Amino acid sequence: MSNSKFNVVVLVELQLIENAISARQSEIEEVKNNRELISAESRFAELDKKFDEINSNYNNLENQRKKLEDSVGIQNEKIKSDEGKLFSGTITSAKELENYQEEVRILKQKNSEMEDRMLELMIKLEEISGKAKLVGEEKDKTGTDVNRIKAEMNEKLEVLKNIIGGLKKRREDVTSNIPDDYLKKYRELKSKKGGIAVAVLKDNFCNVCNMEIPSSDAERIIDADEIYRCPLCGRMAVIYRSEIDNIKRELES
Ligand SMILES: [Zn+2]
Repeated sequence: MSNSKFNVVVLVELQLIENAISARQSEIEEVKNNRELISAESRFAELDKKFDEINSNYNNLENQRKKLEDSVGIQNEKIKSDEGKLFSGTITSAKELENYQEEVRILKQKNSEMEDRMLELMIKLEEISGKAKLVGEEKDKTGTDVNRIKAEMNEKLEVLKNIIGGLKKRREDVTSNIPDDYLKKYRELKSKKGGIAVAVLKDNFCNVCNMEIPSSDAERIIDADEIYRCPLCGRMAVIYRSEIDNIKRELES
Protein backbone atom coordinates (compact mmCIF):
# COMPACT_ATOMS: atom_id res chain seq x y z
CA MET A 1 0.00 0.00 0.00
CA SER A 2 1.31 3.39 -0.94
CA ASN A 3 1.75 6.51 1.14
CA SER A 4 -1.33 6.90 3.21
CA LYS A 5 -1.25 10.66 3.88
CA PHE A 6 -3.13 10.15 7.11
CA ASN A 7 -2.14 9.20 10.62
CA VAL A 8 -1.96 5.42 10.25
CA VAL A 9 -2.41 4.88 13.96
CA VAL A 10 -6.13 5.63 13.54
CA LEU A 11 -6.45 2.31 11.70
CA VAL A 12 -5.04 0.52 14.74
CA GLU A 13 -7.29 2.63 16.93
CA LEU A 14 -10.33 1.64 14.88
CA GLN A 15 -9.37 -2.00 15.26
CA LEU A 16 -8.87 -1.63 19.01
CA ILE A 17 -12.19 0.19 19.42
CA GLU A 18 -14.01 -2.54 17.53
CA ASN A 19 -12.26 -5.21 19.62
CA ALA A 20 -13.41 -3.37 22.74
CA ILE A 21 -16.99 -3.14 21.43
CA SER A 22 -17.20 -6.88 20.76
CA ALA A 23 -15.61 -7.66 24.13
CA ARG A 24 -18.25 -5.52 25.85
CA GLN A 25 -20.98 -7.16 23.78
CA SER A 26 -19.76 -10.57 24.93
CA GLU A 27 -19.85 -9.27 28.50
CA ILE A 28 -23.48 -8.26 27.95
CA GLU A 29 -24.31 -11.80 26.83
CA GLU A 30 -22.53 -13.20 29.89
CA VAL A 31 -24.41 -10.85 32.21
CA LYS A 32 -27.72 -11.79 30.58
CA ASN A 33 -26.98 -15.48 30.92
CA ASN A 34 -27.10 -15.14 34.72
CA ARG A 35 -26.95 -18.59 36.36
CA GLU A 36 -27.87 -17.17 39.75
CA LEU A 37 -30.99 -15.57 38.29
CA ILE A 38 -32.01 -18.70 36.40
CA SER A 39 -31.71 -20.81 39.56
CA ALA A 40 -33.49 -18.22 41.74
CA GLU A 41 -36.33 -17.97 39.22
CA SER A 42 -36.80 -21.72 39.04
CA ARG A 43 -36.68 -21.94 42.86
CA PHE A 44 -39.33 -19.20 43.01
CA ALA A 45 -41.57 -21.04 40.53
CA GLU A 46 -41.22 -24.23 42.63
CA LEU A 47 -42.12 -22.45 45.85
CA ASP A 48 -44.99 -20.63 44.18
CA LYS A 49 -46.44 -23.95 43.02
CA LYS A 50 -45.92 -25.55 46.43
CA PHE A 51 -47.52 -22.53 48.13
CA ASP A 52 -50.58 -22.81 45.86
CA GLU A 53 -50.87 -26.53 46.52
CA ILE A 54 -50.72 -26.04 50.29
CA ASN A 55 -53.33 -23.28 50.16
CA SER A 56 -55.66 -25.27 47.97
CA ASN A 57 -55.34 -28.22 50.36
CA TYR A 58 -56.06 -25.83 53.24
CA ASN A 59 -59.16 -24.41 51.55
CA ASN A 60 -60.37 -27.89 50.76
CA LEU A 61 -60.15 -29.04 54.38
CA GLU A 62 -61.55 -25.75 55.66
CA ASN A 63 -64.60 -26.26 53.42
CA GLN A 64 -65.06 -29.74 54.84
CA ARG A 65 -64.84 -28.31 58.35
CA LYS A 66 -67.39 -25.60 57.57
CA LYS A 67 -69.81 -28.12 56.10
CA LEU A 68 -69.51 -30.22 59.26
CA GLU A 69 -70.01 -27.13 61.37
CA ASP A 70 -73.16 -26.27 59.44
CA SER A 71 -74.49 -29.81 59.77
CA VAL A 72 -73.80 -29.84 63.49
CA GLY A 73 -75.64 -26.52 63.78
CA ILE A 74 -78.65 -27.81 61.89
CA GLN A 75 -78.68 -31.00 63.94
CA ASN A 76 -78.45 -29.03 67.18
CA GLU A 77 -81.50 -27.04 66.14
CA LYS A 78 -83.29 -30.28 65.45
CA ILE A 79 -82.23 -31.71 68.84
CA LYS A 80 -83.42 -28.54 70.57
CA SER A 81 -86.76 -28.72 68.80
CA ASP A 82 -87.18 -32.45 69.58
CA GLU A 83 -86.23 -31.92 73.22
CA GLY A 84 -88.66 -29.04 73.38
CA LYS A 85 -91.38 -31.35 72.27
CA LEU A 86 -90.21 -34.11 74.63
CA PHE A 87 -90.37 -31.82 77.66
CA SER A 88 -93.44 -29.92 76.62
CA GLY A 89 -95.70 -32.61 77.94
CA THR A 90 -97.81 -32.52 74.80
CA ILE A 91 -96.71 -35.97 73.60
CA THR A 92 -99.07 -38.53 74.94
CA SER A 93 -98.30 -41.57 72.81
CA ALA A 94 -95.52 -43.79 74.15
CA LYS A 95 -94.56 -44.73 70.61
CA GLU A 96 -94.20 -41.08 69.56
CA LEU A 97 -92.15 -40.38 72.68
CA GLU A 98 -89.88 -43.28 71.93
CA ASN A 99 -89.45 -42.08 68.32
CA TYR A 100 -88.39 -38.62 69.46
CA GLN A 101 -86.03 -40.05 72.05
CA GLU A 102 -84.47 -42.31 69.42
CA GLU A 103 -84.09 -39.42 66.98
CA VAL A 104 -82.38 -37.25 69.60
CA ARG A 105 -80.07 -40.12 70.50
CA ILE A 106 -79.05 -40.64 66.85
CA LEU A 107 -78.59 -36.91 66.25
CA LYS A 108 -76.42 -36.52 69.34
CA GLN A 109 -74.26 -39.45 68.27
CA LYS A 110 -73.89 -38.00 64.75
CA ASN A 111 -72.94 -34.64 66.20
CA SER A 112 -70.38 -36.22 68.45
CA GLU A 113 -68.81 -38.04 65.48
CA MET A 114 -68.84 -34.86 63.40
CA GLU A 115 -67.28 -32.87 66.22
CA ASP A 116 -64.49 -35.43 66.49
CA ARG A 117 -63.90 -35.16 62.75
CA MET A 118 -63.95 -31.36 63.00
CA LEU A 119 -61.33 -31.45 65.72
CA GLU A 120 -59.12 -33.67 63.56
CA LEU A 121 -59.55 -31.23 60.69
CA MET A 122 -58.72 -28.25 62.88
CA ILE A 123 -55.48 -29.87 64.03
CA LYS A 124 -54.61 -30.60 60.41
CA LEU A 125 -55.53 -27.04 59.34
CA GLU A 126 -53.28 -25.60 61.99
CA GLU A 127 -50.42 -27.79 60.78
CA ILE A 128 -51.00 -26.77 57.16
CA SER A 129 -51.27 -23.14 58.10
CA GLY A 130 -47.83 -23.31 59.77
CA LYS A 131 -46.40 -24.98 56.70
CA ALA A 132 -47.99 -22.36 54.42
CA LYS A 133 -46.44 -19.61 56.51
CA LEU A 134 -42.94 -21.12 56.17
CA VAL A 135 -43.24 -21.75 52.44
CA GLY A 136 -44.76 -18.28 51.97
CA GLU A 137 -41.83 -16.70 53.77
CA GLU A 138 -39.35 -18.66 51.70
CA LYS A 139 -41.22 -17.73 48.53
CA ASP A 140 -41.14 -14.03 49.46
CA LYS A 141 -37.44 -14.24 50.26
CA THR A 142 -36.71 -15.92 46.93
CA GLY A 143 -38.85 -13.31 45.15
CA THR A 144 -36.77 -10.60 46.79
CA ASP A 145 -33.61 -12.39 45.63
CA VAL A 146 -34.92 -12.55 42.07
CA ASN A 147 -35.66 -8.83 42.10
CA ARG A 148 -32.28 -7.98 43.60
CA ILE A 149 -30.39 -10.09 41.03
CA LYS A 150 -32.44 -8.53 38.22
CA ALA A 151 -31.73 -5.02 39.49
CA GLU A 152 -28.01 -5.76 39.75
CA MET A 153 -28.04 -7.28 36.29
CA ASN A 154 -29.83 -4.28 34.79
CA GLU A 155 -27.37 -1.97 36.46
CA LYS A 156 -24.44 -3.89 34.93
CA LEU A 157 -26.14 -3.93 31.52
CA GLU A 158 -26.74 -0.19 31.74
CA VAL A 159 -23.06 0.43 32.47
CA LEU A 160 -21.97 -1.80 29.58
CA LYS A 161 -24.43 -0.18 27.17
CA ASN A 162 -23.10 3.24 28.11
CA ILE A 163 -19.52 2.10 27.54
CA ILE A 164 -20.47 0.69 24.14
CA GLY A 165 -22.25 3.96 23.33
CA GLY A 166 -19.06 5.85 24.13
CA LEU A 167 -16.96 3.45 22.05
CA LYS A 168 -19.29 3.84 19.08
CA LYS A 169 -19.05 7.60 19.32
CA ARG A 170 -15.27 7.33 19.38
CA ARG A 171 -15.41 4.97 16.41
CA GLU A 172 -17.38 7.58 14.46
CA ASP A 173 -14.71 10.18 15.21
CA VAL A 174 -11.93 7.79 14.21
CA THR A 175 -13.53 6.60 10.97
CA SER A 176 -14.06 10.21 9.90
CA ASN A 177 -10.26 10.46 9.82
CA ILE A 178 -9.76 7.43 7.60
CA PRO A 179 -10.00 7.76 3.81
CA ASP A 180 -12.85 5.75 2.29
CA ASP A 181 -10.67 3.34 0.32
CA TYR A 182 -8.76 2.38 3.47
CA LEU A 183 -11.98 2.00 5.36
CA LYS A 184 -13.30 -0.24 2.64
CA LYS A 185 -10.13 -2.33 2.74
CA TYR A 186 -10.37 -2.50 6.52
CA ARG A 187 -13.96 -3.80 6.38
CA GLU A 188 -13.08 -6.36 3.72
CA LEU A 189 -10.13 -7.72 5.67
CA LYS A 190 -12.06 -7.66 8.91
CA SER A 191 -14.81 -9.87 7.52
CA LYS A 192 -12.32 -12.18 5.78
CA LYS A 193 -9.86 -12.53 8.63
CA GLY A 194 -11.84 -13.34 11.72
CA GLY A 195 -12.62 -9.78 12.73
CA ILE A 196 -9.02 -8.56 12.77
CA ALA A 197 -7.94 -6.41 9.83
CA VAL A 198 -5.01 -4.50 11.28
CA ALA A 199 -1.80 -5.89 12.72
CA VAL A 200 1.03 -4.16 14.56
CA LEU A 201 4.60 -5.08 13.73
CA LYS A 202 6.99 -4.95 16.67
CA ASP A 203 10.57 -6.22 16.56
CA ASN A 204 9.68 -7.79 13.20
CA PHE A 205 6.89 -9.82 14.76
CA CYS A 206 3.26 -9.53 13.67
CA ASN A 207 1.08 -9.25 16.77
CA VAL A 208 -1.81 -11.07 15.10
CA CYS A 209 -0.24 -14.08 13.40
CA ASN A 210 2.61 -14.10 15.95
CA MET A 211 5.16 -14.88 13.28
CA GLU A 212 8.50 -13.27 12.56
CA ILE A 213 8.56 -11.28 9.34
CA PRO A 214 11.20 -12.71 6.95
CA SER A 215 14.26 -10.47 6.91
CA SER A 216 13.89 -9.74 3.21
CA ASP A 217 10.49 -8.17 3.98
CA ALA A 218 11.61 -6.64 7.27
CA GLU A 219 14.31 -4.66 5.44
CA ARG A 220 11.72 -2.58 3.65
CA ILE A 221 9.34 -2.18 6.58
CA ILE A 222 10.85 0.94 8.10
CA ASP A 223 8.45 3.87 7.69
CA ALA A 224 6.19 4.35 10.72
CA ASP A 225 3.79 6.48 8.69
CA GLU A 226 3.25 3.80 6.10
CA ILE A 227 0.71 1.03 5.93
CA TYR A 228 2.23 -2.33 5.04
CA ARG A 229 0.82 -5.75 4.55
CA CYS A 230 1.91 -8.56 6.83
CA PRO A 231 3.63 -10.96 4.40
CA LEU A 232 2.46 -13.88 6.55
CA CYS A 233 -1.18 -13.22 7.40
CA GLY A 234 -1.98 -10.60 4.77
CA ARG A 235 -3.47 -8.07 7.17
CA MET A 236 -2.84 -4.35 7.01
CA ALA A 237 0.15 -3.70 9.24
CA VAL A 238 1.71 -0.66 10.84
CA ILE A 239 4.92 -0.35 12.79
CA TYR A 240 4.56 -0.31 16.55
CA ARG A 241 4.74 2.97 18.45
CA SER A 242 4.05 3.66 22.12
CA GLU A 243 0.95 5.68 21.22
CA ILE A 244 -0.75 2.36 20.49
CA ASP A 245 -0.25 1.23 24.09
CA ASN A 246 -1.76 4.50 25.30
CA ILE A 247 -4.86 3.90 23.18
CA LYS A 248 -5.15 0.35 24.56
CA ARG A 249 -4.92 1.64 28.11
CA GLU A 250 -7.58 4.27 27.42
CA LEU A 251 -9.94 1.69 25.98
CA GLU A 252 -9.44 -0.68 28.88
CA SER A 253 -10.19 1.93 31.52
ZN1 LIG B 1 0.56 -11.27 10.41
